[in-house]
Amino acid sequence: MEKIKMTTPLVEMDGDEMTRILWKMIKEDLLEPYIDLKTEYYDLGLEHRNETNDQVTVDSALATKKYKVAVKCATITPNAARMDEYDLKEMWKSPNGTIRAILDGTVFRAPIVVKGIEPCVKNWKKPITIARHAYGDVYKGSEMKIPGVGKVELVYTSEDGSETRELVHEFDGPGIVQGMHNINKSIESFARSCFNYALDTKQDLWFATKDTISKKYDHTFKDIFQEIFDAEYADKFKEAGIVYFYTLIDDAVARVMKSEGGYIWACKNYDGDVMSDMVSSAFGSLAMMTSVLVSPDGNYEYEAAHGTVQRHYYKHLKGEETSTNSVATIFAWTGALRKRGELDGNKELMEFADRLEKATIDTIEAGEMTKDLALITTIENPTVLNSEGFIKAIAKRL
Ligand code: NAP
Ligand code: MG
Repeated sequence: MEKIKMTTPLVEMDGDEMTRILWKMIKEDLLEPYIDLKTEYYDLGLEHRNETNDQVTVDSALATKKYKVAVKCATITPNAARMDEYDLKEMWKSPNGTIRAILDGTVFRAPIVVKGIEPCVKNWKKPITIARHAYGDVYKGSEMKIPGVGKVELVYTSEDGSETRELVHEFDGPGIVQGMHNINKSIESFARSCFNYALDTKQDLWFATKDTISKKYDHTFKDIFQEIFDAEYADKFKEAGIVYFYTLIDDAVARVMKSEGGYIWACKNYDGDVMSDMVSSAFGSLAMMTSVLVSPDGNYEYEAAHGTVQRHYYKHLKGEETSTNSVATIFAWTGALRKRGELDGNKELMEFADRLEKATIDTIEAGEMTKDLALITTIENPTVLNSEGFIKAIAKRL
């Protein structure tokens, strides 16, 4: 069989631990036999990040700006324990944070829906994609404990030195206070990423905040979305047969529970943090959740939503068998290959992505799966496969 050709490379970001092992198996068994795989390879494994003083992470993000499509393996975010384990020169920052800061984007997370892995919410039939704004609010907040009686104000000092004040509270005893911010430019790129992603995936877009209570802060989010939608996207949405609507967050939550899915739910940073955990666990498993970072100027970075599965890796190192689910990592590759195909007009590559996804889903629906899914499936007597066996079973179908 002749292999599928690629015209433009994908940016390939390798990673750590168990997912690094899966990465290699996926390439060898599911991709390289069929595709003349062209990638620009960056090793984001912690050892190499340490050797390059984390320059490799920056370079991989810059390459993503150049080639527009990247696929990333899960990586370790160093903490104190990792400092010793890997003898690190510094506690390097989260690669995802570094990449996000360079690409400036929104993270979209969607569950992979499979028959036999049923959502807890019985009317959810299609995936619900959460679009999380990844800048500001409480994540860049400053806080104070107020020891006793006194006044707290917000003070804005403009460039010419003039001050504007707003009373937060007159304390008559101890309490707490928090200040947070966002910037219009970031909200605008959040809005554009959401509108573009909705058009890309032909799904409706919902956006919700608490603008009735937060009349300036949350209301600004609502206004910016509406202004950009009216000026740049209304016609395109009509043409694509999809809708954008804004509603109050309370109303959105109620509607989500009663919906059948199949749309994108755009959330402010905190809402997206907690709601994506709720949605993903209600759909079944973190190992069945894809994640893509979309930048406002059209760069895409695909990855799995889970981490490096450290506990399984330590078993693997001891020579014990593992049953680690590779579905989200496979879908990171298919997402990137499909997008590459779309940008390059490479139909064969897009069709290959579809076939690999179908082979993966068919394998699970036929009852062959890893242990994490076997524990929650409604399929009777599933066959539990090890990490490699599962990938081989997909390869056979493919
Ligand atoms: P994790 O890798 O997501 O794994 C947590 C647990 O979830 C696992 O121990 C396993 O449960 C289950 N699990 C997750 N993915 C699975 C899969 N594909 N197949 C089967 N089970 C799976 O989170 P972590 O152990 O807290 O973090 C490990 C490392 O990943 C950390 O260094 C962290 O910094 C990094 N991390 C990276 C990313 C990223 O690059 N995007 C995201 C999150 C975390 P059982 O052990 O019960 O089987
Ligand atoms: Mg969370």
